[in-house]
Order: sequence, then structure tokens, then C-alpha cells
Amino acid sequence: MPQLDASQQILLDRALERMVRSGHAATPQRRLVAQELLASPCALTARQLADRLGAQGDRVGVMTVYRTLALLAEIGAAYVLHDHLSESAEAHYAFCSDRHHHHLICSACWGVWEVEGCGLSEAQVRVGDAWGFQVQSHSLDYYGLCARCATA
Ligand SMILES: [Zn+2]
Ligand SMILES: [Zn+2]
Ligand SMILES: [Zn+2]
Repeated sequence: MPQLDASQQILLDRALERMVRSGHAATPQRRLVAQELLASPCALTARQLADRLGAQGDRVGVMTVYRTLALLAEIGAAYVLHDHLSESAEAHYAFCSDRHHHHLICSACWGVWEVEGCGLSEAQVRVGDAWGFQVQSHSLDYYGLCARCATA
């Protein structure tokens, strides 16, 4: 099982709390899936995640992994990526903290980084005022190559 540092452990606990508050039990299998996703620096498919768990001796079926990832996405603890730059049709998932953030996504290695402080809340108000629209949220992803893949 991957070791989490103290701040990751807090993120995991908060995600599991949200799971319970949304009416879903934080079963040991769901905990394993959430932990493995959190520990991975790259977005993973359900199959990749199930393979990793299996290699560590934690056998969790692909369907259970898939449903848990969908649940994590539903409660805002995971982000679903459909990279338009990649050939892969399978959805990749990345763990999400509960802070407001956007994603930097590497199209070569599926590395995902959270970017905080987007500065878009002013633009959100401006656009809302201009259109007479109550803007409640916004989304933004950056796609490209991470520093390591760009030099490879
Ligand atoms: Zn995220
Ligand atoms: Zn990369
Ligand atoms: Zn933002």
C-alpha cells in the first residue's frame, strides 16, 4: 500500500468524510481505491488502478474500482480526464483536493498538477455583469507537456 504524507492523509480523510456524508459507506475497498489514486502523480484508468492494487496483493475488481472512481468524481474528490490530445478513449481519473483549483495535464505521461489561485473570480463577475447572468462556477484545464516530458 502506498505511504501517504501527512497532508495527503488529511486529503484522504476529508474525501472519505464527504463520501459518508453523501450517504455512501467508506468501505475498505473504496478506501484503497481513493488512497491509490491520491498517491499516484499521474491520472489512471480504472483498469490501471485495479492492476496496481492487485500487484500489492489487494484484489479489487475492475468494476468496483470503476464505480468507486465514479463516486469519487461525484463527490468532487476525483477529476475525470478525456484528453483530446491523446488517442486513448478510456477515461483517466486524478484525485482532487477540496480547494478551488485548475489542472495542468501532461499529454505524454498523464501527470496532473493542481494549480491554485486562478484569478478567474474577477472575470466571472465581469462576464456575469455583462451578460446579466448569475455565474456560479467556471472550469479551466491546461494541456501540454510537463518539464520532464518536454525535454525527453
Ligand atoms: Zn483536481
Ligand atoms: Zn509529462
Ligand atoms: Zn478558478
